[in-house]
Amino acid sequence: MKNTTQEIDIYLKELRLPTIRSTYEETAFSAQKEGWRYEQYLFTLAARECDERSVKRIERQLQESRLPLEKSKETFDFNRLPLKLRPLITGLMEGMFAQRKDNVLIFGTPGSGKTHLLCAIGQELVRCGKKVYFTACSLLVQDLLRAKKDLALRRLIKRYERYEVIIIDDIGYVQHSKQEMEVLFTLFAQRYERGSIMITSNLAFSQWGAIFKDPMVTAAAIDRLVHHSVIIELNLTSYRIEQAKISKGLSSQTTPAPMGAPTL
Ligand code: ADP
Ligand code: MG
Repeated sequence: MKNTTQEIDIYLKELRLPTIRSTYEETAFSAQKEGWRYEQYLFTLAARECDERSVKRIERQLQESRLPLEKSKETFDFNRLPLKLRPLITGLMEGMFAQRKDNVLIFGTPGSGKTHLLCAIGQELVRCGKKVYFTACSLLVQDLLRAKKDLALRRLIKRYERYEVIIIDDIGYVQHSKQEMEVLFTLFAQRYERGSIMITSNLAFSQWGAIFKDPMVTAAAIDRLVHHSVIIELNLTSYRIEQAKISKGLSSQTTPAPMGAPTL
């Protein structure tokens, strides 16, 4: 014959309430000691179960997002950003742009912090419940092309639909064939007004002809990305160079990078 505790255990397992299962006894002890009402006891257990689930869900989503976790809001030095950009970045972290399916395009010289900044934004979006997927552009292109060869491009693009935000890092960094860029364009076209894309690039739009090869495809890709988008230019001195200077005891002023802002 089972006792009550064993039966509660079985029910809570069946109901998939692991946190309540592992804490209800000690909570009952506190409840008795503090003279809680029944509702207070139930409230405490339910709240703990929900909190724990939310923590686990965020952990899972962060893993699934493939975001590099070390590039977070906490490790990003916001003092390096121009003052006028800061409220914009805070706004992006709240995720309204993703609800509107807007895109975010961030341009600038290498080492400015583009990738780190988008990863930090991506992590915050996951924390507010958004599904995010981070990928280097070159890996994404390979995945898309492989899928096309296997006649599974539509299926893969459909799978990306479950992410509210796709972060494509370093578009144009690696030279791709025309065929490779066509599959990327297919993804852009499919996501247009259906899901957000965030992009980092060292290349200004005027140089995107070299990415997409064909002038018509280039124009069409830019057109889809730019319509409903936030464009950020981040032309700062390379963080790495600055850190190297600091460690050598040299001056560490954030000065505009020598090549200046890309012409968009
Ligand atoms: P980009 O993508 O513009 O080339 P990254 O984001 O890769 O630049 O930044 C280069 C390196 O400098 C990374 O290790 C990144 O974590 C670091 N970094 C850049 N900007 C900042 C910042 N504002 N605060 C902290 N680390 C930064
Ligand atoms: Mg980068």
